[in-house]
Amino acid sequence: MTSQSIQSGTAPSSDQIRRAPKVLLHDHLDGGLRPGTVVDLARDGGYSPLPESDADKLGVWFREAADSGSLERYLETFSHTVGVMQTRAALVRVARECAEDLAEDGVVYAEVRYAPEQHLDGGLTLEEVVEAVNQGFREGELTARRNGHRIRVGALLTAMRHAARALEIAELANRYRDQGVVGFDIAGAEAGFPPTRHLDAFEYLKRENNHFTIHAGEAFGLPSIWQALQWCGADRLGHGVRIIDDIEVDADGGVRLGRLASYVRDKRIPLELCPSSNLQTGAATSYAEHPIGLLRRLHFRATVNTDNRLMSGTSMSREFEHLVDAFGYTLDDLQWFSVNAMKSAFIPFDERLAMINDVIKPGYAELKSEWLFQQTASTRGSVAEEG
Ligand SMILES: [Zn+2]
Repeated sequence: MTSQSIQSGTAPSSDQIRRAPKVLLHDHLDGGLRPGTVVDLARDGGYSPLPESDADKLGVWFREAADSGSLERYLETFSHTVGVMQTRAALVRVARECAEDLAEDGVVYAEVRYAPEQHLDGGLTLEEVVEAVNQGFREGELTARRNGHRIRVGALLTAMRHAARALEIAELANRYRDQGVVGFDIAGAEAGFPPTRHLDAFEYLKRENNHFTIHAGEAFGLPSIWQALQWCGADRLGHGVRIIDDIEVDADGGVRLGRLASYVRDKRIPLELCPSSNLQTGAATSYAEHPIGLLRRLHFRATVNTDNRLMSGTSMSREFEHLVDAFGYTLDDLQWFSVNAMKSAFIPFDERLAMINDVIKPGYAELKSEWLFQQTASTRGSVAEEG
């Protein structure tokens, strides 16, 4: 082994992870607010049910409620964030801060999703919701640039699985596809609400040559993944982590893929994996046992995501740090995840390619070469001491 491969094989530092160009495909706008912003917006909008009025205590409350294992408490967290996101000004601010926070964390490309139908209580129309969020993202991109960061944020419009507005939201996504909206998603409780309930929306999007992802294979297993892919035609799987149920690992380490797992791997179906979120909902028991380790080894199109940064107290850097700790990942592994995610984004191919070749790869190359200069500095130091 050469000294370079020894050096680049060492664990990246927290600082390097933060500076590494990262790509995020699965992040909920209503799951990523700053606690202080929730407090401000509740006060300004006269929203009274908030459990804490101190930003720090509220942040802890969100994480604990999400950690509690109680679905009721978990859902309550979203009733508060959505509750304060009912005006144009609130939506612009939340979207702007989302872009700023991601950029500060070293994310260079993000697709952030939200359900327009959940932001109508203050009298906004679906179109006004989309335009407010778009404006916030554009403002956040500008602030980030002023602070020396580069980020591009696209929106995914989500329809709720238990509701009956999927086609309407799909049409909305299509109408705004050249104005900041890059695709469509459905979310909400998987059990009892199969994605096939919304076939009309998916068939519409396919006829329009548009893109969509489906939350599937998180709590619910293979049937949900199978339906999302083979009945609905999803481009990506939101989570998809239960694909592990179709993979057998022998005692001697031999691996056998079932038909569905083979299909997902062969067709390079992107998995929007969200490790911390899975630990909170019980879809995985620890980072070290999270299926992402095996899926990465088997070369599935695995990507790393945050899901809900506020509820999980996480960020892209933190997700990467957990994986570095659990699996000994190097900068090469983090680059692999980032390139995978960029390949799977919903923006045009030429733009994805430019992001990979002109932003992601050079960013990692710079980080990977840092040890060379550190060595020079330490040699210089000892030369000076000897002199
Ligand atoms: Zn999600």
